[in-house]
Amino acid sequence: MRRNISKLTLLRCSNCGSDLRGLSTDVIFYCSECGRCWISGERLSPVSIEFVRMGDSDSVFLPFWKIDASVNIRNRISRKKSSASGVGRFREFTGTERGLTESDAGSKKDRFIFPAFSTNLVLSTGVRMHSENFLPEKTEHGKRFSVIGGSVGRDDAVLLTRAVAVGVEVNRADYLASVDLDIEVHAAGIYAIGCTPEKNVLKINGSEIGILYAAINDSDEIIKQNQDFSD
Ligand SMILES: [Zn+2]
Repeated sequence: MRRNISKLTLLRCSNCGSDLRGLSTDVIFYCSECGRCWISGERLSPVSIEFVRMGDSDSVFLPFWKIDASVNIRNRISRKKSSASGVGRFREFTGTERGLTESDAGSKKDRFIFPAFSTNLVLSTGVRMHSENFLPEKTEHGKRFSVIGGSVGRDDAVLLTRAVAVGVEVNRADYLASVDLDIEVHAAGIYAIGCTPEKNVLKINGSEIGILYAAINDSDEIIKQNQDFSD
């Protein structure tokens, strides 16, 4: 099973002592011997992992963050499409101005899922996964699988969650003028989601979403490592 590949970083599982496989930029490490998942920092900390949408034999598991958070919207202002003509004149928003409505202030619980691997499409992918209401059909038994490429740590994941939450607001059907929100993370875990390598994209199994290889750092290496493991 072990291969001599220079890009692999070797750490040891704090639970069973097995080697943890990952790329040199990885911070998320899955132990395929005992099924624990770790995030490296000053030391290895445990993080929950679930395997979903295994797919067929071509599939590889890529790591995604699954963040449960409260989204606290302090202020959200939308406008009617027809009110765009007021541009250029300074006007103070009073809440009663024609065409502008203030709405939806308050807190709501929500789940955000977005890539934990390095891609410059992380926000748009997160917004699309949110609008798809992405849920697993069932979780798979994870031992003996490989999950390579998780380079987005927990702190960055929290920042990205807020960015995705803003993206979700922008993406709604009204015409957003401004939104001010913050988030409070209640739980952060990893979804290892089956993805199928296609011609130009890595397709998320059971989804319409494909992520361009060109947008994924180390896409060749991530897919190769994960496929090698399942051979
Ligand atoms: Zn282990």
